[in-house]
Amino acid sequence: MTEDRWMELAGEVLASSAPTTRFPLGHNVCSGTKALRRATGFAAWKHAGQMRKGDGQTPYIHHPIEVTAILVEVGEIEDLDVLQAALLHDTIEDTQTSHSELDSVFGSRVSAIVLEVTDDKTLAKRARKALQVKHAPHLSKGAQALKLADKISNVFDVAFSRPVDWAPERQLQYFDWASRVVAGLRGCNKALEALFDKQLAESRQALANIR
Ligand code: ZN
Repeated sequence: MTEDRWMELAGEVLASSAPTTRFPLGHNVCSGTKALRRATGFAAWKHAGQMRKGDGQTPYIHHPIEVTAILVEVGEIEDLDVLQAALLHDTIEDTQTSHSELDSVFGSRVSAIVLEVTDDKTLAKRARKALQVKHAPHLSKGAQALKLADKISNVFDVAFSRPVDWAPERQLQYFDWASRVVAGLRGCNKALEALFDKQLAESRQALANIR
């Protein structure tokens, strides 16, 4: 895949993505549009054919785009490396992408941030989840903000686009675990923390209403 093709894909993905009403993209698109376009195209290519777990049958690429939008619009993050890492944040974990590949295409800082938020899939799921709680306070500030935006997006999806095989108990366990991870991220970005708290409260309420 050539860089030109990634950019073409990025344009197609952005054009076809339904505008989100949750975290609408504004007009204050930061400089470095080309860098973001390349990262979007690369992520779209890597996540091609993948869907989110929820019942909404959403193409996976909507998730990293949403996480990036949350960082820009709510967190007011303008650090281009963090925003590129947000677009790429699930590529190592969920696609055939290596750290060295990201390193060669996007540079060492972007790939390092992605690696910081990547679980070690050689470990059992329970261990991976425990490590996220343990590692959260020790991540770089950029990776902390990225992880927080990721949890905001995931908590919303677990509540309102529930994975088809998830019972309410599992949703509740996810909320409890996400709040433990976020406890270790406090202090990195007040606006993101406030959005997470609001999102979590609404998600818990929605779950309580159906139980
Ligand atoms: Zn994610």
